[in-house]
Amino acid sequence: MKILIRGGRILDPSQNLDLVGDLLIENGKISAIGKNLNVPYAQVFEAKGFVVCPSFVDIHVHLRDPGQTYKEDLESGSKCAVAGGFTTILCMPNTKPAIDSPEVAEYVIRKSKQIGLCQVLPAGAITKGRLGKELTDFYALKMAGCPALTDDGAPLMDSRLMEMALKLARQLDLLIMNHCEDDKLSKGHINEGYVSSLLGIAYRSPSAEDILVARDCILSYYTKGRMHIQHLSSKLSLDIVRYFKEKGAPVSCEVNPYHLLFDERELLKSGANAKVNPPLRREEDRQALLEGLKDGTIDCIATDHAPHAKKEKTSLESAMPGMIGLQTALPMSLELVREGVITLEKMVYLLSLNPAKLLGVERGIKVGKPANLVVFDPEREWVLNEKTNLSKSQNTPLWGRVLKGKVLMTLWEGKIVYNS
Ligand SMILES: [Zn+2]
Repeated sequence: MKILIRGGRILDPSQNLDLVGDLLIENGKISAIGKNLNVPYAQVFEAKGFVVCPSFVDIHVHLRDPGQTYKEDLESGSKCAVAGGFTTILCMPNTKPAIDSPEVAEYVIRKSKQIGLCQVLPAGAITKGRLGKELTDFYALKMAGCPALTDDGAPLMDSRLMEMALKLARQLDLLIMNHCEDDKLSKGHINEGYVSSLLGIAYRSPSAEDILVARDCILSYYTKGRMHIQHLSSKLSLDIVRYFKEKGAPVSCEVNPYHLLFDERELLKSGANAKVNPPLRREEDRQALLEGLKDGTIDCIATDHAPHAKKEKTSLESAMPGMIGLQTALPMSLELVREGVITLEKMVYLLSLNPAKLLGVERGIKVGKPANLVVFDPEREWVLNEKTNLSKSQNTPLWGRVLKGKVLMTLWEGKIVYNS
């Protein structure tokens, strides 16, 4: 089976590739790149005016499977992923039961392989039951297929356990990730600032985040264990990561598109659908994150796709935190390109090449390599609504809004897994 993607802008900054031309896929692999390729008997996809680049990698996704499949499951989550251009996603272990044993990790891998749309990698828990008391069996989780460990949703508060985790992770080449918010300082619902005073709602201060980011960077500096800060959102946290990167600590961080495009005032418009942890912050923090994208302190854009049912998203005080984001990551990232914050090449690094590297996954457009590709139209407008949404949930401030930039086709190892 041959697939010819014809006349697109083929873009892979890691190979210094930026060419308007054709790309041929045979037997799952990229077999030729060039101008006016003449290939008989190929399935042709006309890509004139579209971008062809390495498919995306999301290092932070909640698929709620096993245990909360009324919100999402491995199948609906995989469908959202490929519709968003992602062919590798790292799913968080805050499932029921938690992914704290090889058996649960193997369930995720086995079921996602049966679904067969994309690569779903499980993130194992750092502690048993994500309770922060006792380390899991890192070696067994690694052998079962977990490239990274986190208790996401719950921060790991015990510094001694975090130090042990980083030392062990260094030996096993695992990535340790943390949801950084000191649990004593993060009892409130939204950011400490203008909106919390206006609405009189209990807040969680940015210091909750900054304190744990600092601690984790310090521990990474001393242990040399790879530490990844999840959904970084505050200006000071970013400064801390920048400082420790300069000192040579193996730290990395991700930001969520919502923290890049919205500040706390979005809560006044979207209510509970704009509630997320860590919370949407001040405009000043958002501007700092944009700088962090430019200077390379931020390694990747991760969606933190966090589906919740409608009844779990009613009032700001009672709502579960989180937003869905797999299908909207591309248009949101393209917004940053249009605003001149990042280049298209940089976007490919943030959504694909950098997170791939962190997870040890191969990406790149090269003859002989597996065809993991996305074709998108940067100009196409569309709306996320009942018709287009593939998630079981609808919790996003972007519901019903016009989005610019759409995935047209996603290929995973040469197989067309999404075609709009
Ligand atoms: Zn989290």
